[in-house]
Amino acid sequence: MRLILLGPPGSGKGTQAQRLVHKHGIVQLSTGEMLRAAVAAGTPIGLQAKEIMANGGLVPDEVVVGIIADRIDESDAKKGFILDGFPRTVPQAAALDELLKKKHLKLDAVVELRVNESALLARVEKRAEETRARGEEVRLDDTPEVLTKRLAQYRSLTEPLIHYYSERRKLLTVDGMMAIEHVTREINRILGAIGALEPKDEEPAKAAKKPARKVSKKPAKAVEKAPKAAKKAAKPARKATKGASKAKVAKKSVKKAAKAAKPASARKGAKAAKKPAKKLTKKRAKR
Ligand code: AMP
Repeated sequence: MRLILLGPPGSGKGTQAQRLVHKHGIVQLSTGEMLRAAVAAGTPIGLQAKEIMANGGLVPDEVVVGIIADRIDESDAKKGFILDGFPRTVPQAAALDELLKKKHLKLDAVVELRVNESALLARVEKRAEETRARGEEVRLDDTPEVLTKRLAQYRSLTEPLIHYYSERRKLLTVDGMMAIEHVTREINRILGAIGALEPKDEEPAKAAKKPARKVSKKPAKAVEKAPKAAKKAAKPARKATKGASKAKVAKKSVKKAAKAAKPASARKGAKAAKKPAKKLTKKRAKR
């Protein structure tokens, strides 16, 4: 599974990434962490980034893209990864697309943690307090002044990624104001709904059926983010299947993703779940 966690500073990306790492056994790739390590080690990249980071600026795109390009080639990232803090600009996102394409890797989803800006300062202050209490050094950029700058950067340079990934049908939005456990549960629920989760410990056939069932019960948030045209396209499907959920768009991508993600033995189950969609396609074709 390859994911991006998107959200402003203090939205909980790091916390949620760690929880996903724990649950799914994939690695967290945080450019912020890697840059802080480079600063601490005094490497050339660290020397270049130190001042920029302390002032709440963004390290040049080519630097972070280079770091990520090298990192995803490492063996522990083969099984999957969660990008935390990258991409942060549209050029970084475009570079990532290129990178993944070259390596024949697919991005499963971009999870946006949506939070009220007014809560962020309190969260970052709390983070600084907890760090201090552990006897660790507080981040130089976790101050109200620098946070204000980082938020402004987020709005102008990173927020356009919401549109970027929404257009590419990758965006899933989660309410990041909920309690940590609820946010985690919701992320796992929607990842299950789009078929991004590996059927790790489950019996393959059972696992293959799961996403479809889940989606028909409760629409995945992805639908809210789907472009208008896609929602329109989903309408006849909704009419044709009695009691079906709004999540037809997501369901389609679920089936696609499920097919790609599941082993051959699991595809039988997924095929069965596909039948209604086939009928719908026929109906649509008649029209
Ligand atoms: P973070 O730990 O993600 O909040 O990142 C801390 C700081 O590292 C940011 O304020 C930036 O200065 C720098 N940084 C981290 N990731 C990136 C990135 N993808 N692009 C540019 N600068 C970054």
